[in-house]
Amino acid sequence: MKCRRCEKPAAIKMPRHNSAFCDLCFRDYLHKQVMKAISDQRMFEDGQPILVAVSGGKDSLVLWDILIKRGYPTVGLHLNLGIGEYSRISQAHVEKFARSRDLELIVQSYQDDYGLGVVDIAKETARPPCSACGTMKRHHFNRIAMEKGFAVVATGHNLDDEAARLLGNLLNWQIPYLKKQMPVLSDEGGKWARKVKPLYRLPEREIAAYAVLNQIDYIIEECPMSKGAKTFLYKEMLNRLEENSPGSKLQFYLGFLKERPSAFPQQIEAETQRCASCGQPCGGDLCGYCRLIQRVGAS
Ligand SMILES: [Zn+2]
Ligand SMILES: [Zn+2]
Repeated sequence: MKCRRCEKPAAIKMPRHNSAFCDLCFRDYLHKQVMKAISDQRMFEDGQPILVAVSGGKDSLVLWDILIKRGYPTVGLHLNLGIGEYSRISQAHVEKFARSRDLELIVQSYQDDYGLGVVDIAKETARPPCSACGTMKRHHFNRIAMEKGFAVVATGHNLDDEAARLLGNLLNWQIPYLKKQMPVLSDEGGKWARKVKPLYRLPEREIAAYAVLNQIDYIIEECPMSKGAKTFLYKEMLNRLEENSPGSKLQFYLGFLKERPSAFPQQIEAETQRCASCGQPCGGDLCGYCRLIQRVGAS
C-alpha cells in the first residue's frame, strides 16, 4: 500500500479516510487535526503559555510533543496519584520525556500532600477510586494553574475517551454531565484556567501510532484501579461500530457538539457558586474536593 499523498510506502492505514499515509505525511496529518481543533474551538492564542497535564500515558505525551513542535510555550504538570508501581512508572515516563527535551515539569504528589495516595483517600471516604481521583485531579489542575498564572490547562482526552463518555452519559441519561464533554471548558470570564482537549478529533489508534513513529515512550498498562470500568466496554462497542462503518465515532461526537445547544439548552450556563473553603466553582456550599478532604481529616 502507498501513501495517498506522496506515493512512498505507507506506514499506517486510515480506514476512516479509505487510504494510508507514510510516516511523514501521517505526522503532518495528525498535527493538522490538532491545529484544526485548536482554531475551530478557539482554545488558545499563539504565544499563550499552556499548562499540559501529563499522566505518562500516550495521549498526554503525544499532545505535549505536538504543542512543542508547533512552537507553543508549555510547562508539564504531573500528579503522582500514589497508586504503587503504576504511579512510579508513569512518573518515570513523564520525567524521561521532559528531561530528553529539556522541558519544564511540575510534579505534585498526593502522598507528600496528605500522606495518602488516591486509593487510600477513596477507601477512607468510601468513594469509588476513579471518582475520587477525578475530583482531586480537577481541583489540583485548577489550583496549580491559578498559582502559576496559566490561563489554559490542556489535557490529552482523545476521540475514544469523549465518544465513550458520551455514550455512557446518554445510556444513563446523565444530562448534567454533558457539559463536561465539551472540548473547551469555560474559564468563566478569566476567573479560572480554561480546560482544553486538543486531541478530541483523534482516535486512540492514531495517537498510539504517532507515539511509536516518534519514539515517545509511554506507560502502556491502564491504571489498575480502573479495571472493569464501563468505559472499556463502551470503547470496545464503539470500535466494533467503527470497524463496520468507519468514521462513526467522529460523527457521533461532532454531531453532539453541533446539536448540543438546541438539544440541551439548559446545559449552557456554568456553575455559578463558589466553594466556601477553596473558592473554586461548585454546585453547592463546599466543592467535591473539599468535602473529600474534610472526610479524610475527620476519619
Ligand atoms: Zn507520504
Ligand atoms: Zn473547595
